[in-house]
Amino acid sequence: MTSFSDLGLNAALLKAVTSEGYDTPTPVQEQAIPPALAGRDVQGIAQTGTGKTAAFALPILQRLSASRTRPAPKTVRALVIAPTRELASQIAESFRTYGRHTGLSVALVFGGVPKPRQNRQLAGGVDILVATPGRLIDHLGDRNVRLDAVEVLVLDEADHMLDMGFIVPIRRIAALLPAQRQTLLFTATMPAEMAALAKGLLRDPVLVAVVSGATTVEQVTQHVMFVDSAAKRAALRGLLGSAGQGRTLVFTRTKHGADRVVKYLDEYGVHCAAIHGNKSQGQRERALADFRSGSTRVLVATDIAARGIDVDDVTHVINFDLPNIPESYVHRIGRTARAGHSGVAISLCGPEERPFLRDIEKLLHAKVPVLRAA
Ligand code: AMP
Repeated sequence: MTSFSDLGLNAALLKAVTSEGYDTPTPVQEQAIPPALAGRDVQGIAQTGTGKTAAFALPILQRLSASRTRPAPKTVRALVIAPTRELASQIAESFRTYGRHTGLSVALVFGGVPKPRQNRQLAGGVDILVATPGRLIDHLGDRNVRLDAVEVLVLDEADHMLDMGFIVPIRRIAALLPAQRQTLLFTATMPAEMAALAKGLLRDPVLVAVVSGATTVEQVTQHVMFVDSAAKRAALRGLLGSAGQGRTLVFTRTKHGADRVVKYLDEYGVHCAAIHGNKSQGQRERALADFRSGSTRVLVATDIAARGIDVDDVTHVINFDLPNIPESYVHRIGRTARAGHSGVAISLCGPEERPFLRDIEKLLHAKVPVLRAA
């Protein structure tokens, strides 16, 4: 079995990884870390939950600590771009955790909060900058930061960034980077537009793929329940009342749907919160913190809001609505069964959602077992 020391990581990083309790590298780490350490570009197909953050963070930390040049004011040595504030925060946190014995600096910039504190962080120059695209463009426009000293670029959840319409900002940012750099790109899916972007940004990349959902999906016990749309809320309430249920993520297709579910559950005394794009940054952070601490056991989310959220010990995922994009199903159920734990995913399927279920089963190459209402 491969160990982290076999991958060629230095003592400072091995120490941090050990204190995180990681025994062995995950498949994406095992495949991506050696070529990334060798300076190669990497194109990784992996979703959240596979350990992809460490797969790019560890080689970057090692590279930057090997040549200790202090970054000049307003410059950045490694730039990580992520689609959402939540994901960006988690990535910055991971860099701080894994890099705690390296002395490298990490800055985080995202929208929805005032700029001055971010400016102050950027002013002195930083080793690692984690940013969402829009706010980074703002800071570039204000000349708070320059990208001409970037040695490594990471695009995380790149397909998600395209879905969110960030293609233009990403191209603008890429145009400001030195051609001579290392690029690491991670995406869960590879639609044509994504492939075109990757081709333009990467040079002779090493391809790393954690087969579509294989590692996470297999550890999730999946069920589907056929119910009339009108009976879904009662069915959900029944499922939430089952014994042995810990943190539960409920997915709805729309923001409005999420609010309606929360309102209904509230009326029955189920403590829950919604997280979606119409919520303020403060509300989202509070909902997430409560879910993490366990004071809210049920979090109701839309796909966009939930992607990239890194909360361990989600025991159940309930699809209140089935997603019309089959890959979203894989992302959703990948929120449970993280890092080797098992998990349960139950989907409520209304009559009009049967075609979505068929698409999902086609993608999974398997039938989802049917659960009959008690
Ligand atoms: P990620 O896919 O980067 O969001 O990581 C998913 C989760 O796996 C995070 O909670 C990490 O802390 C955890 N993790 C990452 N690498 C390992 C590893 N080698 N062993 C155990 N847990 C890990």
